[in-house]
Amino acid sequence: MTHRSTNILTILILVGLVAGALVGEYGLHAAGAVVGNDHWLKATGDLVLIRPLKLLIIPLIFFSVISGITRIGDPSKLGIVGGATLVYYLATMFMAVTLGTVLVTWISPGVLAPEIQESLRETAGNFAAGETATRSLGSAWMNILHQLIPVNIFEDMVKVRPLGVIVFAIAFGLALAAGGDKTKAARDICNACFEGLMILVRWVIWLTPIGVFFLVAWTVGKIGFESIVGPLGKYMITVLIGLAIHGFIVLPLVLWLCTGMKHHPYRFMWRMKRALMTAVGTDSSSATLPVTIDTAEGEGECSKRAANFVLPLGATINMDGTALYEAVAVVFLFQLFGIQLEFGQLLIVVITATLAAIGAAGIPSAGLVTMVIVISAVNMNLTGSPNGPLPVAAIGIIIGVDRILDMCRTAVNVWGDAVGAKIITRLAPD
Ligand code: ASP
Repeated sequence: MTHRSTNILTILILVGLVAGALVGEYGLHAAGAVVGNDHWLKATGDLVLIRPLKLLIIPLIFFSVISGITRIGDPSKLGIVGGATLVYYLATMFMAVTLGTVLVTWISPGVLAPEIQESLRETAGNFAAGETATRSLGSAWMNILHQLIPVNIFEDMVKVRPLGVIVFAIAFGLALAAGGDKTKAARDICNACFEGLMILVRWVIWLTPIGVFFLVAWTVGKIGFESIVGPLGKYMITVLIGLAIHGFIVLPLVLWLCTGMKHHPYRFMWRMKRALMTAVGTDSSSATLPVTIDTAEGEGECSKRAANFVLPLGATINMDGTALYEAVAVVFLFQLFGIQLEFGQLLIVVITATLAAIGAAGIPSAGLVTMVIVISAVNMNLTGSPNGPLPVAAIGIIIGVDRILDMCRTAVNVWGDAVGAKIITRLAPD
């Protein structure tokens, strides 16, 4: 994409975001419109942007990972790149979740006047816990392991389970790299397919401004900005402060240190803005993935080898924003039910929230669902039963304002992936 068209696109996405927020707030929310999940604004946003982007996710993951692996080639180098990528994911998620836990314990957003606590607790019943309530820590591990060792790659593709597709693509990419001349044709085909897909991505990307407009208008119309000053305001602000510290201070610092202080982190953030704004608009790291790859390889100047490997993997497992959010939300809910967690329980929150973030898919509200794992684990520690003292249905309390937080945490998730790609570019340049 030329420099000029990139700039035009960026401006259009920004206009879409701002116009969507204004229409949502003043045209719908303030006007008292009833905006449900089946509202036409959301349906249009899905049709215009989410579905076309989703269409690209699986083919893109498949070919980009293979192309990334075969480009890296040398197995020992691959080991270093793979190891460094995993260390980066885990370390930054751990930092995010620790930051969230410290902030929520310190700010204590759930310690409110008794009557407010009571009225909030009453809303808990609205959450249909259903099947999710039965999820436990053991089954969460098993679920991740099953995805990591797939039995039918086509089933994973059909059901859009990226982890299995990634594992297969890594293994197949390694085999193609090891095959030398015999597999050269297949390597070339995969690289060419990847290039073709990226052209398709660049066409679809032009739909982003319109899609973002509809989706943001729907979200803001439904929730309204005033929720920030409502009874859940302190909780939302705690999450937002945590995300801001992680996104604007921690990750830039990590980038700066890990690239030998050569890269200006905020300049890189600015260059990644197209992907970050798309993340805000779509609430989904997976749907944003095509844009993230395009932006990282273009304006972000990440190497193809690093971007193709780190970004698809990152969109699925590296979720700093989600990890931080899960920690804040769970501790907040316990506070609301009058339980102050102690150090040991906070440690359980840190560990399980990281796991829950890894297990969360890169789709809207995924973090809200996997939070059940964290709640059950802490309940288990407190009473020996996963079902109390905090009922899983308590998640219903925060469901109403989740989408706005989801926009912000998804942006931090994507930013974390981009920082990873930039750092790994050092190990796998060009
Ligand atoms: N929406 C987030 C993402 O796609 C996941 C979540 O926290 O719900 O990255």
